[in-house]
Amino acid sequence: MKEKIIKYLCCTKCGADVELAKHQVPDSTDHIIEGDLICKECKTTYPIIGGVPFFSLNTTSAIVDLNRKNFADEWNYFTSSLSGKNEELAKEELESYFHPFIEYKDLDNKVVLEGGCGGGRLLYIAAKYSNAKEVFGIDLSNAVLTAFKNTKHLSNVSIIQADITNLPFKKDKLFDFIYSVGVLHHLPKPELGFNSLVKYLKEGGIILAWVYGKEGNSLYINFADPIRQLITSKLPFKVNLYLSCFLTAILWGLIWVGYVPLNQLFGEDNANKFLPFNKYFSYFRNRGFKDFWRTVFDKMVPTISYYISHDEFINWFKANNLEYKTYFRNGHSWTGIGQHQNLISTHNTQTHEYASSS
Ligand SMILES: [Zn+2]
Repeated sequence: MKEKIIKYLCCTKCGADVELAKHQVPDSTDHIIEGDLICKECKTTYPIIGGVPFFSLNTTSAIVDLNRKNFADEWNYFTSSLSGKNEELAKEELESYFHPFIEYKDLDNKVVLEGGCGGGRLLYIAAKYSNAKEVFGIDLSNAVLTAFKNTKHLSNVSIIQADITNLPFKKDKLFDFIYSVGVLHHLPKPELGFNSLVKYLKEGGIILAWVYGKEGNSLYINFADPIRQLITSKLPFKVNLYLSCFLTAILWGLIWVGYVPLNQLFGEDNANKFLPFNKYFSYFRNRGFKDFWRTVFDKMVPTISYYISHDEFINWFKANNLEYKTYFRNGHSWTGIGQHQNLISTHNTQTHEYASSS
């Protein structure tokens, strides 16, 4: 944690300013690795561990605690390195979430927040490939420690451990651009997470969210998701790791032996009509086995997963008085952006509504 970010932070209990108490001398990248932040009013102590200030060490819910442990295991395992091919995959993935609304140049000189940064994979890309002024990443899980390792060399990045619904930022309207991808649907109340993020959006700022869709996922919701709920979310990390690898191998075979020839025979557009998850599988076929394995694992471990309908999703934006646009991504999920004003005039984009035939 850099000392310069303390001016943005506050106590999550009483909202007062925090100050640096005992701490080590900053390292060569200017980060304080170990120390304490302390609230000037109520004297609550927030430890700095492994370069990251921790604002939400305890939750009162066992299900949320298991959720954050499972995600920490995932991100600590799958995002330990961001070089070479991993960086390429992360870049392509971030761009697919931003598409068709946001480009790196939209972040130029902006103060950015990623709500739920996991191991910092996408945050690393957003900070490296844009000229953003400051990029903050928050996450509830201890994957923040991996996120810190992955991004500490980037001068414009700060990682904070915190609860998305109780953020440690001193003032509202702090960020020009907030994005949260693949996170809100894992909260006990997804809409509350969204509302909390919107509160920190500057006048004219933009929020982008990506969530699992109810549309295009009925097969998964009816057959696979109950297994996650009842069984796999409760299994130990290693068991899920091997089980997901086994399942991925079966699906991988099915994709290459069944889906690929059928796509070649009928053409992709036609195949989309009768092959479930065709767009989704095509996307991962191009990204390789390990990335597909990670996403299968990612589907098995959450203790909480919601599938959000388009109506429900746009109501989040409406309830916050945001102008919005949505995009149906990969035939099974929703990307949406919202802005308090002038969204349509400043962003020449197209709305892609969900086609009921999918
Ligand atoms: Zn306080």
